[in-house]
Amino acid sequence: LIEQTIGALFDAVTARQPDHEALVSVHQRRRYTYRELQTEARRLASALLGLGLQPGDRVGIWSHNNVEWTLTQLATNMVGMILVNINPAYRTAEVEYALNKVGCKALVTMARFKTSDYLGMLRELAPEWAHGEPGRLEAQQLPHLHTVVWIDAPHQQAVHEPGMLRFSELLALGDAGDTRVSAIGAQLRATEPINIQFTSGTTGFPKGATLTHRNILNNGFFVGECMRLTPADRLCVPVPLYHCFGMVMGNLAAFTHGATVVYPNDAFEPLTVLQTVQDEKCTVLHGVPTMFIAELDHPRFAEFDLSTLRTGIMAGSPCPTAVMQRVVRDMHMEQVTIAYGMTEASPVSCQSSVDTPLDKRVATVGQVQPHLEVKIIDPDTGAIVPPGQSGELCTRGYSVMHGYWDDPEKTREAIDAEGWMHTGDLATMDAEGYVNIVGRIKDMVIRGGENVYPREIEEFLYRMPQVQDVQVVGVPDPKYGEELCAWIVLKPGQTLSEDEVRAFCKGQIAHYKVPRYIRFVSEFPMTVTGKIQKFKIREAMAQQLG
Ligand code: ATP
Ligand code: MG
Repeated sequence: LIEQTIGALFDAVTARQPDHEALVSVHQRRRYTYRELQTEARRLASALLGLGLQPGDRVGIWSHNNVEWTLTQLATNMVGMILVNINPAYRTAEVEYALNKVGCKALVTMARFKTSDYLGMLRELAPEWAHGEPGRLEAQQLPHLHTVVWIDAPHQQAVHEPGMLRFSELLALGDAGDTRVSAIGAQLRATEPINIQFTSGTTGFPKGATLTHRNILNNGFFVGECMRLTPADRLCVPVPLYHCFGMVMGNLAAFTHGATVVYPNDAFEPLTVLQTVQDEKCTVLHGVPTMFIAELDHPRFAEFDLSTLRTGIMAGSPCPTAVMQRVVRDMHMEQVTIAYGMTEASPVSCQSSVDTPLDKRVATVGQVQPHLEVKIIDPDTGAIVPPGQSGELCTRGYSVMHGYWDDPEKTREAIDAEGWMHTGDLATMDAEGYVNIVGRIKDMVIRGGENVYPREIEEFLYRMPQVQDVQVVGVPDPKYGEELCAWIVLKPGQTLSEDEVRAFCKGQIAHYKVPRYIRFVSEFPMTVTGKIQKFKIREAMAQQLG
């Protein structure tokens, strides 16, 4: 295991290969070598210290993917400030909650993005800010927050906000040679918290997981090992940095291997991803299943040369085998892997590697990562279940979070006295240790006493050639307790009727697994990480069905 801090490791890699490309932000048209990124991050760290911020202070980042995001990550890492990832889809009530929950003293944010006015939202929360001193704010509603920094965007008009600093202005206040930065860096310990990440909110309210250098640096490293990353690799990262998928499995996997990260866009857009892979000759592509589906099904897919691609990670939600097969065949990602994890576990617990046999690689989440333990238990008795039987997946080892920020009770519910993190996910493990994620315990449907795993029905319906994507949930039913409901998105130009779907199921799956309710929709309710919020589908159905 790596016992260094993130800052120390980044310095070591930079010393080895200062002129190697570290980061390309395609949508911002900016490129950085390792040396340049390190210099800018040190300058920012110095500027943050200059604002009076200290190690241990929380610094929020409320933004889509850009260079500033990663500079803020590296700068806070270097001087032991705790980076707080805030979802750019959050609106006033949510950002107020997040900032106050963890006591952010500073916040880096976009001025605006499309129709979202981030500074406007902050002003709404704290109108008196307009009268503050530059770089020093006071507001009752946000009692901890003293500094707001907004990211310059060249195509945007300058925003003149008294009391709010422009990112470039802040950088100019710093000194890349500031000796305080290295002095503080040398004092930091790898076991100290460095990051608070809110969970995706797929099942309800997001929780703030507190993670240490040791947690995420090692996880990034082993995730990179599974893909056999080398400095020659170029990782296309369309997944959000605000989430561990981008920050750990993208940035840290790349930086621990001296590779290059490439951000195609600020918020996900399939066409730019395809264009970027081609233009930047990317070898690695990450995505949640819905992103890969959007890329594969894009009408212009065939126009792009994706032959440089080799590997990448599909993760975040159930990865349909058919989609994995298309990724291998049509995107040339012969070494693609699936990872399974959760924010609270830094995130990855299981991942296939490039050496995993293809049939296992497309259909399982691989085996447990090095230095970690995974067990599958009967959630009622806590006993380990026999191979092939489903139960709750629990994980233990270096990657388990420090705890939920300021919430010892929730932490105790998630991590037991022996250090096992209870994930709330149902899984099976075969005799060779390959793990299959069956679904979330909360999503399992019990219809007339029969356990039905939505994932199984989704995989089955996905075989219909007209179907682009499908989600299955349970809805309350007076007779059977629960009934199955399928929401289907059709491929462009395709049509399908409820009867045709039922006819497809007939004779192929048990009658109680055939969805009672079938709805054709244009999209699913989704988190900004691209994860489908099944609880919203259930809510919508409950409303429809009265
Ligand atoms: P919340 O905890 O706020 O409801 P969340 O659990 O979606 O949200 P994350 O920590 O981002 O927040 O996601 C972790 C979850 O994602 C896992 O618990 C699991 O249910 C799901 N997941 C991740 N990877 C996979 C995968 N490869 N296959 C199936 N499910 C996955
Ligand atoms: Mg969760």
